[in-house]
Formats: sequence, C-alpha cells, structure tokens
Amino acid sequence: MTSVTTQYFPAASGIREAEPEIREAAEDLAALVYDGKFDSVHADLRAALEDPMFDQRHGLAPLEAGRLSYERARFLHGRLGPAAELMRDQLRMFAIGEWSCLIDTTTLPILNIHYNLCLGTILQHGAGRDDLADYIDELGSMSSIGLLIATELGHGNNIAALETEAVYDHASREFVLNTPHARAQKFMPNTGISDIPKLAVVMARLKVDGADCGVLPFIVRISDHNGLCEGVHVTRLPEKPGFALDNAVTRFDHVRIPRRNLLTGDMGQLTDDGVFQGAVGSKRKQVLRALDRVTPGRICLTGALISAGRASVYIAVRYAEQRLTAAPGRGEVPILAYRSQQIALFSSLAQVYAMTFLVNHVKTEYLSRHSGNEAEVDQLISIAKALSSWEMSRVIHVCRERCGAQGMFSVNRIADYVPMAQGVVTAEGDNLPLLATVAAQMLARRSRSAGKTTPSDPASRDLLTGTFQLDLLQYREDSLRREARQAMTEETRGDGTLFSAWNQNMTAATSMARTRGVRLALEQFLTAVENAETEDGRTALRLLACLYGLLEVNRDSGWYLARNALTAEQVERLPREIESLCEQILPHSRLLVDGFNLTPELLRAPIADDDYITAVSRLVGQDLPAPRTASR
Ligand SMILES: Cc1cc2nc3c(=O)[nH]c(=O)nc-3n(C[C@H](O)[C@H](O)[C@H](O)COP(=O)(O)OP(=O)(O)OC[C@H]3O[C@@H](n4cnc5c(N)ncnc54)[C@H](O)[C@@H]3O)c2cc1C
Repeated sequence: MTSVTTQYFPAASGIREAEPEIREAAEDLAALVYDGKFDSVHADLRAALEDPMFDQRHGLAPLEAGRLSYERARFLHGRLGPAAELMRDQLRMFAIGEWSCLIDTTTLPILNIHYNLCLGTILQHGAGRDDLADYIDELGSMSSIGLLIATELGHGNNIAALETEAVYDHASREFVLNTPHARAQKFMPNTGISDIPKLAVVMARLKVDGADCGVLPFIVRISDHNGLCEGVHVTRLPEKPGFALDNAVTRFDHVRIPRRNLLTGDMGQLTDDGVFQGAVGSKRKQVLRALDRVTPGRICLTGALISAGRASVYIAVRYAEQRLTAAPGRGEVPILAYRSQQIALFSSLAQVYAMTFLVNHVKTEYLSRHSGNEAEVDQLISIAKALSSWEMSRVIHVCRERCGAQGMFSVNRIADYVPMAQGVVTAEGDNLPLLATVAAQMLARRSRSAGKTTPSDPASRDLLTGTFQLDLLQYREDSLRREARQAMTEETRGDGTLFSAWNQNMTAATSMARTRGVRLALEQFLTAVENAETEDGRTALRLLACLYGLLEVNRDSGWYLARNALTAEQVERLPREIESLCEQILPHSRLLVDGFNLTPELLRAPIADDDYITAVSRLVGQDLPAPRTASR
C-alpha cells in the first residue's frame, strides 16, 4: 500500500478497519446483505471455496476446464450434506450458486441444472412415487450428474412448440424417444463430456395412439462411465468465450425408455389401458407447469449474478483505492480520487445493493408462495430476473472497464463474470420475452384504481427524498400501464389484430414492468436503511439509496419533465446532485464493499489484494524488492 493511497483513503490502509465501530458497521451491512442468515446459510459455503481445489489454474483447454468444473461441483456437493435435506432448504440451494460462481462460473449452471431443474423436477412431478427411488438416490449422491434437456435448434423461447417425440408402445410398456428432424435436435444441454455419468429430464411430446398429448418430462439416461448410451448422439458445440460448460447438440434415435420414466405429476396420467388423461386445460399451460422448477432456477441464477456483481465492485473499488494516476498539479493520486471513477463505481455499488435487497425480498416471497399468490410471485421473480441481470451485466462491464488492462485477465475475475452475465440474461427465460410476458399479464389485469396522478407541485418536493423518488416511479409505472392498456383496447376495437396492438405497445409495457422492479427495489433499499443498526452503516446506506433513486429518476428525466412531474430546474440539477452524492459516499466506499463479506484470500484476484504490486509480482513469479518510496 503506497503512502499516497493512505493519505487519500485511510480506510484502505487498514487503520480504520481496525476501529471497532467500523468493524461493527461492516457486520451490520453484511447482516442486511445476507438477510440475517450469513452464519446459518452462507458461512460454510464460503469456507469451502477456500480449499486448494478452487485455486486458480491457468492455461487449461476448454474441455479440461469443463472437467475441473464438474470435479469442483462434486466437491461442493460433498460438503453440502444429505441431498434430501438440501432439496428441502431452498435458501441453501440459492446460496450454492451465489458462492460457487465467484470462483468458477461454470459450476453455476452445473449445480443449478443438477439440483433445481433435474432433481427438483423429478421430486416435484414424481412426488410419492417409490418406483423412482433409484433415480433420486443416484442424483442425490451425484453418482450421476443431472441435466435438463428442453430447448431445440428450432425452438428457443417458444417451449410449447418442441418436436422431440416420445411415442408410447403399449405392448412393451415403453416409450420410444426420437428426434424426427433437424429442427428438433436438442440445443445446447451440457452433454458434451460423455464419459461422466449423466441422467436427464428430457422434455418431449408424448404421442399415444397417434394423438398429441403435449410436452411432458421423461427421465432419460444419457451416459455412463463407458460413454453415451445407445441411441443418444451428441456433437459438442464450438467454444463459448469464458464459459467451459460442455454444451452440445443432442439427438435421440429411437431410444427405448420404461413407462415409469414419464413424469406426469398432477398434469394427468397414462392409464394401465394405455390412455392419456390430461388434467391441464391447454398444452401450453401443461409445458409451463412441467417446467415449474425453472422458477427457483431463475432466482438461483439471479442471486448468483448479483453475487458476481458484488465481487466485481469489491475488486474494482479496492483496486481504484491503490492504483495511481496523474492529477493536474497534484503529482499522483489513486484513481478513485477522480469523480469519473466515483460516478462509475458508486453507481454500480448502488445498483448492486438495490438488486441484492430486491432479490432478498423475492426469496422471501418465493418461500411463502401458495396457490393464492402464485401468479403474482412468479411475476415478481420474472421482473427481478430481467431487471437485475441487465443491471449486473452493465455493472460488471463498467467494473471491468474501470480496472483498465488488469480487468481483462481472468485471474482478476471480472472478465469471467462478463460472459456469465450474458448467459444469465439468456438462459431460463430470456430477459426480453420474460419481461414482455409479465408486462402483458399486468396489462390484462383489471384495476379499479386509475393509479397515481402527476405528483403535484414538484418544485416544492426535495429530489433527495425517498418518498418523492418513489412517488415519481409509481407515477411512471401507473401512467405507462394505463396508457398502454387504453391504446391496446382501442387498437383491438378497431381494425388491428392483437399482435399489431401488442407490437405498438410492448415497448411502453416492458418499461412499465421494469419500472415496477425499480420501485420495489428502492422500497426494499429504504427499508434496509431503516433496519441498519449502526450509525455508520445507516449513513452509508442512506446516501447509496438516494443515489440509486436519483439515477433512476435521471434515466427518464425527459419523460418526467414532459409531464410536469419534475421542473426544468430539477432536471438540470440532477447530474450535479448525483456528483455530490458520490463525493459524500467516497469516505464510506470501503465500508460499503466490506459489507459483502468477501476477502482477497477468497477471490484470489491479485488486484483485490491489499498490495496489488506484490500480488501481481507473485503471480508472475517475480521477486523484485518492493519500492522503497511512494510513486510520484
Ligand atoms: C448458458 C446457457 C446454458 C443453457 N443450457 C441449457 C440446457 O442445459 N438445457 C436446455 O434445454 N437449454 C439450455 N439453454 C438454452 C436456453 O434455454 C435458451 O437459450 C432460452 O430458452 C432462450 O432461447 P434462445 O436462446 O433460443 O432464444 P430465442 O428464442 O432465439 O430468442 C432470441 C431473441 O429473440 C427475441 N425474442 C424471442 N421471443 C420473443 C418474444 N416472444 N417477444 C419478444 N422478443 C422475442 C429476443 O430478443 C430474444 O433475446 C442454455 C442457454 C444458455 C445461454
């Protein structure tokens, strides 16, 4: 640590960290970030990642890196205790992804698909069936890796159109699983490493006596230690930058599977006479019910990406405190002394905290989900997934850029989180169709109230208060909803089709759904401020919550101005207020990243070290003496 850094950021030197009140404030923030459950849910997972198994390995070919990720996934599985208990503890399931992705991004899809999508689907739709115990034990012990094989080359987001067939042969009481043509090839399950035993839930169209019974889940063995099973054909896909998962195109050539492998759950039954009796109104609803486990899967991916966002800001802030650059008339200063760096990193910090609190709220709502509020909770999950994965994509990108050349190396982590963010945006419900679906559902719902009208006398309101910021967001959400709904009604009453009406209003509608997410995030943020128990923690969080609200108001300031919800003076003042908040946040920035309960030892990113010069030199095997004087 150079003396220049110490002079600018005493917190970075470790001096203030040693003060009991600062330590207490960091613990206070960590209690809010981990919703009071760090010790019970997270601590042992973080400790497991400190094992040498997770040390950085350089120069691995993609396939070797993929194999290592499977090994690491098994290692974590071994630390998690009995699978039956784990599967009942959804918070632990979410936490696994949040920690494992920090050190090896490829373990995230492996573990999420294994537990949430494969084992979770079998447990849900095979509930009460003793005849599935062998499969459940096999996955529960991870002697086979679980897969979910749904998407096809010709069908991505439109999952109800899948064409892989499972034809029932009543004489042998078996299904014949087949890929009828190129469009139905399964696109891109992790089947590419074929000497690892893998057991899949395959989504296929059930055909009984020539009748189409809709898409349902089937348990299918894909591979064992000797390679692929008979009739399963796999072609590994080319590399995806920064992602070692063994994704492949997979097709089935008349693979015979026993009748017990069909998972109908409460979606219907195949009778002993060989007749399928469906219990769900439509084939589309049936496939969505069959894929219900995608819902917790979305929370898992979202929480993990926010965790990567926290790590990115943690690394970038610590590096910016040490990294020196020229300043007019001042010799050298740490780059964090520059307002441009503060705006970039503290905006990211605000977004990371906001999304953390939003997803904590989502987890609580999911745990209390029941038939009465299911639709509402699912909408909330979709909004949170889309909003936070887009925000984290941006945050990670900004942090990568603000670390300069060092940010480009995998060893410093952030560059690896960039493709991970892209994967989360697309997988388990691509953000855009996901948000559009929720927006359409929100428009369709009748509401007796017209919603919030223009906030009166904006000149008398204080831009920096949470109540005014929330009023503005609520007003925007209600207005966009009311106007899009009215326009849709008028369009469909006239000559327009439903599609053309939707096309003309989908941009406003998806903005409305996004705004709802932002409003909820700000509400949760303000609640967290109130719940902070230390003065330092509360002060730091209050400034950050205010920054989050202002950034969002600033984003649509033209819209608010046009509707007289803000005055021209307020709109002009917004950027200055944002800068002033960043200046006030600066003394608290180390405390705010310490609230993430991360350490340089855990992340093993040289630029996050207390002394990055020594850490990078160690990495490249140089042992030149440390500089005796501060850089000028
Ligand atoms: C990392 C990763 C791992 C994956 N692993 C698996 C796996 O293990 N098993 C598996 O079955 N699948 C897997 N997938 C595939 C995943 O399920 C699909 O990517 C996802 O369903 C989206 O389909 P698509 O990518 O084909 O997008 P498409 O359907 O082709 O959509 C592309 C774009 O078109 C637009 N669009 C599409 N539909 C609409 C709409 N209705 N309204 C407006 N715009 C629209 C959007 O801009 C969208 O981004 C994986 C994907 C990723 C990225």
